[in-house]
Amino acid sequence: MNEIVEALILKEQDYKENAVILTVITKEYGRISLVGQGIRKMTSKNRASVFPYTKAEVQFDYKEGKTMFRLKTARTLSFYRFVHSDLNAGLACGVLAEVMDAFLPENSDYEFSAFCYDLFEEFCSFLEEQHRADIVLAVALAKLLESQGIGPVVDECVLCGNQSVASISVREGGFLCHECAISHGAPMKEAADLRRFRLLNKAELRHIDILESHMDSAMDDCTLLVEFIRMHAGLSVKSYALFQQMFLV
Ligand SMILES: [Zn+2]
Repeated sequence: MNEIVEALILKEQDYKENAVILTVITKEYGRISLVGQGIRKMTSKNRASVFPYTKAEVQFDYKEGKTMFRLKTARTLSFYRFVHSDLNAGLACGVLAEVMDAFLPENSDYEFSAFCYDLFEEFCSFLEEQHRADIVLAVALAKLLESQGIGPVVDECVLCGNQSVASISVREGGFLCHECAISHGAPMKEAADLRRFRLLNKAELRHIDILESHMDSAMDDCTLLVEFIRMHAGLSVKSYALFQQMFLV
């Protein structure tokens, strides 16, 4: 069956004889792989339409029960020019793409596929508008963690429910009160750091202007969220180290 759908391209890997394998998110089919034959040839008319972190209309032969298909044509719908020219934005895309690739299963249901599609598209759009990559990434990672039921508890002490909080524990899964922090050997945090982390975990990307006016940096928060992913989803986010190292304000 000949399918034409909109797809967000997460990654591109070289494959035999000038071919590439694209990993893409679609609302209809979740995460799928598309093999583009001859894409690496300079003359391929599809070459410019299959870059990672772009939105394309793709045509492929759908076969039920399969997760890898032959790509027939691709046409770019959104290129996200700034994302591809700015180091911070490009590396942030790499981090979210890696996490999404791991969290979104093949043969996912429509609801979660559409959630991931919309989140990645919104993420790219906000980066394209030159919003701060650290803040956009923190909000998107928090949304993904929440979707997996492993988002940090940021309304009260995760252990005793006390609403007066003093620390964050990745291991315990969220905020700790003063007493629980002492008994678990967790270092105390500044109130401003706790407030900022809570805000980023509660916010939507559309609140980005407010977030940007309230915080200088969300890098510590990104690092904590990546630690949450490692501890509670078992995923070590490899691309994060480079983002962290290269991040420029
Ligand atoms: Zn407590």
